Amino acid sequence: MSTSNQALDEVRTLCRRVLGAGPAANEAAARAFVEAGPNDRLAVLAAALRACDQLATDGRGPSDVDSPSPGLADAVARELAAASARLPARQRSLLALRERLGLSYEEIASVVGTDPPAVASLLAQARLQLRVERRGGASDAAGCEQRERVLSIVARRQDGEPRAPADDDWLMDHLVVCRSCEEAHAAMLESSVCYRAWQG
Ligand SMILES: [Zn+2]
Repeated sequence: MSTSNQALDEVRTLCRRVLGAGPAANEAAARAFVEAGPNDRLAVLAAALRACDQLATDGRGPSDVDSPSPGLADAVARELAAASARLPARQRSLLALRERLGLSYEEIASVVGTDPPAVASLLAQARLQLRVERRGGASDAAGCEQRERVLSIVARRQDGEPRAPADDDWLMDHLVVCRSCEEAHAAMLESSVCYRAWQG
């Protein structure tokens, strides 16, 4: 497969995760290539998100999801597509960029237009919300003053992003004594594993 075909596949995948598997996703990918060309990966992904935004504003997706044939992989895909469609578009984008395309936090920050330090927290919230959409239950109600710090370190650990050794030690000590943060930790891990198992 040529490099530009791989780039097109990647952009189509991102657009499907944001807009659903209907024709709008291919249209967004095509618009992104017209705007940014195939050579700058991050620029074309950013253009794809803008095109998705525009099509969503026009009422295209993420509801027009097609219905795959029966089977376990398809059942997983259906469940995740439905849960993901209920997330805010920004959270759908973040999950696709990280879990599916494997971008680093710095790359994600560049594509979605935010500061790199904010990405850990945004991804943590997206993973927690995906868990809520799949399994029900309350959104992260915190109840712990250290929650923000916990979520940020947990996300960085999950994603192999750099962090201070002291942060890891502090987190391990905290999870032993704080049940609600331990549950959030498990929920994020579960979301991440499920999302990565989602083919298509
Ligand atoms: Zn806590």
